[in-house]
Amino acid sequence: MISIAEAIRRVLAQTRPGRPESVPLVEACGRTLANPIRASVDVPSFRNSQLDGYAVRTMDLHEVSAAAPIVLGLGPTVAAGASDPGHLKSRTAAPIMTGAALPEGADAVIPIEDTAEVPGGVRISTRPAPGTFVRPAGIDLQSGETVLAAGRQLRPADIGMLASLGQTAIETVASPTVAILGTGDELVSVGQPLGFGQIHDSNAYALAAAVKVCGGRPDYLGIVRDTKDELRAAFRKAARYDFVISTGGVSVGKFDYVKEVLDELDVVREFWRVAQKPGKPVTFGRQDEGALFFGLPGNPVSAMVCFELYVAPAIRSTLGRREVFRPTIRVGLAEDMGNSERFHELLRCKRTETEGQSIASLAGSQNSGALHSLSRADCLVLSPPGRRTLRAGEDHEALDLSSDIKFSSKHPFS
Ligand code: AMP
Ligand code: MG
Repeated sequence: MISIAEAIRRVLAQTRPGRPESVPLVEACGRTLANPIRASVDVPSFRNSQLDGYAVRTMDLHEVSAAAPIVLGLGPTVAAGASDPGHLKSRTAAPIMTGAALPEGADAVIPIEDTAEVPGGVRISTRPAPGTFVRPAGIDLQSGETVLAAGRQLRPADIGMLASLGQTAIETVASPTVAILGTGDELVSVGQPLGFGQIHDSNAYALAAAVKVCGGRPDYLGIVRDTKDELRAAFRKAARYDFVISTGGVSVGKFDYVKEVLDELDVVREFWRVAQKPGKPVTFGRQDEGALFFGLPGNPVSAMVCFELYVAPAIRSTLGRREVFRPTIRVGLAEDMGNSERFHELLRCKRTETEGQSIASLAGSQNSGALHSLSRADCLVLSPPGRRTLRAGEDHEALDLSSDIKFSSKHPFS
């Protein structure tokens, strides 16, 4: 049996970068940049006012103070969008709106609140330094500057920045296509009534959602019965996808045919069974230069944990992301937890912040069939091999599940 670290290494050794694909800017949020983005122009392209006020020439105001105010004559008003802000004459002030281009000769803006309108002009009683409340050209983005790196997952502010550069389409990495199969004679489609002994194919829904969150394109190929013929036909069909995720049928039960059928289809097995709990029977392999096959265990928590450990980093890596792993945090334990010395345990926990420290307690039953505790959990406390039970009061490392934008370039499984 291999370690989680070795299994992660074998998975990432098989991932290949996806191809670039142009998408309209409006659809680009959440997608990953294929190439770095350089600013082609200065943003803003012109010097402008940061607020509503009066554009002035600071050299006119050298002697001004609260005790010795000055009245300046009014220049022409400059509205935002005005294409010709004109030239500011000496000893005048031009009413100017936020975002309007500064008239030539002006070098500062005085907020309207700090002035008073008087007959024949405006009274000014402050002496601003040159540049006060003036936004120079390029204050946001400078022409030639790299503003976003390749591998960046685009966020709403990035989309705004790209829009401010005038880009209407963006080169992103194509999302990998992911086939999802539920295997098991006990499975019934969600929406159909259950007979005795039957369960819904809930894994397919959880995994399709997880694939989407990671940036993959899931496609549910349906339920496959526990026969070699059905499995063979289903995996053959799935082989044209970039990734294939099945659940169930990888353990040592009489009808667990997944490994055998993958062998028949010349999927080169990289591993079967990892020293982890939950999720031990997971298998992974690749068809010659083709699809990556992840045979996840059927138990819902095992399937999701294996997705987190192996499939999600593989999808992110295909997308060209550098940070493909969940970040870790240190947590104090509120109670004893864990019971396996042989395996790397991942314990579903919930944190509370107490006196600046994160304290983790179990989020419910740690049975690998009990998905409710994973739904409640915001971290997975790690109990490495060699430790049987972690004790209350100890500090341990945990995978942080609470964010889907923050990832790490390092995994914690040594
Ligand atoms: P298996 O890995 O096939 O031995 O299944 C392990 C456990 O997971 C059994 O209790 C199955 O009923 C359950 N299981 C298998 N597939 C699914 C699925 N698609 N959705 C929910 N539970 C499942
Ligand atoms: Mg089964």
